[in-house]
Amino acid sequence: MPKKYRVGILGATGTVGQRFIQLLENHPQFEITALAASDRSAGKPFAEACAWKLSGEIPEKIRSVNVDPIEPPLDCDIVFSSLPSTVARETEEAFARAGYPVISNSSSYRMDEDVPLLIPEINASHVGLIETQRQKRGFSKGFIVTNPNCAVVSFAPPLAALHRKFGIEAAIITTLQAISGAGYPGVSAMDITDNVIPYIAGEEPKVETEAQKILGDLDAGSIRKADFALSAQCFRVNVLDGHTASVRVKLKTTATLEDVIDAMRNFESLKLYSSPERFIEVLDEPARPQPRLDRDRGRGMTITVGRIFPDNVFDYRFVALSHNTVRGAAGSAILNAELLIERGIV
Ligand code: NAP
Repeated sequence: MPKKYRVGILGATGTVGQRFIQLLENHPQFEITALAASDRSAGKPFAEACAWKLSGEIPEKIRSVNVDPIEPPLDCDIVFSSLPSTVARETEEAFARAGYPVISNSSSYRMDEDVPLLIPEINASHVGLIETQRQKRGFSKGFIVTNPNCAVVSFAPPLAALHRKFGIEAAIITTLQAISGAGYPGVSAMDITDNVIPYIAGEEPKVETEAQKILGDLDAGSIRKADFALSAQCFRVNVLDGHTASVRVKLKTTATLEDVIDAMRNFESLKLYSSPERFIEVLDEPARPQPRLDRDRGRGMTITVGRIFPDNVFDYRFVALSHNTVRGAAGSAILNAELLIERGIV
């Protein structure tokens, strides 16, 4: 019987917080012992504070848990954070300083030099930054690790597969992002119905910079970022869950179409509890991936890629898809926690 770690969720009533609760319900390594949210929710039983939006009921054990304010101490060993970036920076630091491992979905610390930005299958070695972070910030036991922006998670894995084998010179990305990516209540129905919105506040700079850190190398206590240019345009589309990315990529060395497909298909998954059997699934059917059909592949943790073809301007093009609140948020954070336990860091 593995040890069970007691976890607290900051932002527990939100879109990502609810996904945490759903994914942790029968998790063998974690049990939820604390839930925290804003002043609007604090002091109420979870079932009263939360407008539950996922299929299925709120787990019975969670319904009556009292929601706490987002300040330490919380009755837990590990903190998962799904707070808006406006409050995450100060709050996550307060928890790390109070001795908690903080595993965050927010953008607040992702690009800080001493903070790991993890997709464990790609850059598990970046956990080596934690020691630097503790020294630099004077954290004794606590620390902060982050997972990427939910749109970056869809295309960084296939780019990593290509970067390892052939090197990437440049990439152009167009994202088609689901409504749930904006949190609840998110975009108004009047705005998104029968529509595509070519703007997501603050998104393009994140999409243009996070992949280079993820694909970078840990060298003497810091990350040497991958050296390629990336241009992105981000769109909100009328899809509930699942972010799609259309990618064009220029490689540093020559690769055949078969090489490109093999590099993606053979990218190994890990053996952690939340790891999917296949990290990247490449589909041959011409009209895939599609959010409705493919977002739940590998319990929402697989990245699905299709339409891989030579490109007339760059070298190759393809379409990638991932579930934004599972692999793009709560599922990734849980996988990060499993990695930290496996490595003996938690
Ligand atoms: P959301 O649905 O708006 O939920 C926000 C949560 O934070 C709620 O629990 C809310 O509590 C709490 N909160 C809001 N303002 C607060 C304050 N001033 N003090 C304390 N708590 C506060 O947002 P979300 O989509 O879950 O996103 C949460 C974070 O994850 C964001 O940083 C977002 O960028 C990131 N993220 C989201 C996705 C996604 O697909 N949605 C993917 C990756 C990363 P109340 O209910 O009490 O208001």
